[in-house]
Amino acid sequence: MGTGILTIDLDALAANWRDLARLSQGEAGAVVKANGYGCGAAEVATRLAREGARNFFVATAEEGATLRTSLGPGPVINVFSGHMASDTALIRDHALVPMLNSPEQAARHRAALPDAPYGVQLDTGMNRLGMEAPDWAATRAGLESGPLTLVMSHLACADDPGHPQNAAQLAQFKAMSASVTAPRSLSASGGILLGPDYHFDLTRPGIGIYGGLPFASARPVVRLSLPVVQVRDVALGETVGYSATFTAERPTKLATLSAGYADGLIRYMSNAAPLFAGDHACRLAGRVSMDLLTVDVTDLPEIPDHLDILCPRQSVDQLAEVAGTIGYEILTSLGRRYQRRHIGQ
Ligand SMILES: *Cc1c(COP(=O)(O)O)cnc(C)c1O
Repeated sequence: MGTGILTIDLDALAANWRDLARLSQGEAGAVVKANGYGCGAAEVATRLAREGARNFFVATAEEGATLRTSLGPGPVINVFSGHMASDTALIRDHALVPMLNSPEQAARHRAALPDAPYGVQLDTGMNRLGMEAPDWAATRAGLESGPLTLVMSHLACADDPGHPQNAAQLAQFKAMSASVTAPRSLSASGGILLGPDYHFDLTRPGIGIYGGLPFASARPVVRLSLPVVQVRDVALGETVGYSATFTAERPTKLATLSAGYADGLIRYMSNAAPLFAGDHACRLAGRVSMDLLTVDVTDLPEIPDHLDILCPRQSVDQLAEVAGTIGYEILTSLGRRYQRRHIGQ
């Protein structure tokens, strides 16, 4: 097998969701945008639906349409980007629920699909998506008189419990949604951990389900094992890879692995990220190239068929740290060339 093997543990994923659902005051939904954070939206959502999740969230109507095909009728599929100009047929045909972000989207949805349910996304300070207070004031009466199923907003700083913007957004959300009778939703994974004041009727965990921070007690969900293509001996003083950035300071055994930045192992990991043979760490030697990595395996008693870059010894957040990014980006960059194997039911 020439490509890496990405193993997704659906039992661990389900246990993470159950933990986040137990922490949530109201109902817990599940965010499965970006192909379920790289883990396979179909497999992830199908499993979480069996665990009892009834509200799913995706970024775009296209993602929602694909997800509907996997989930079948029944579960609610909410779309964060709302109702964009070309979305009407997808929303109608796949029974999607757009989170309306502006008076324009509200007018478009009500005109195109007068009986179709919708949510509203409010901007409470992140300034990314959603209606600001004057937009909401102008559209609220009309929207509340139709099939409004959710009023939601999103926290910008929930991964930092001490950040003053959390309380400010909470206050703003309460003020904007006071006396709304539709269910309310404010918190993603980080907000769930801020405590019950932030939960309202429905939470929207994403990263925590997939084993990432800020849900520190999450179980690891992904393992990424990369096959060794070739092993060579490099003499003292020889260099390795593009731009010759690694120089052997001892006689070095070097393994070349089949994966590179085209598979989401970003070039900033060069000469830094460890890979694991069981418990034994081996360092990347030289630049990450498009399809290949070179690893110093001199200290291994025996060269295995595969080395792991994500495993219990190296979480997505630990790898992200080495790469100057966050676990979310490591997961959502996981390459299409990997064989994805889902274990657990
Ligand atoms: C991505 C997203 C979530 C999930 O966030 P996590 O931090 O991954 O839990 C929830 N709500 C909105 C609006 C999002 O964009």
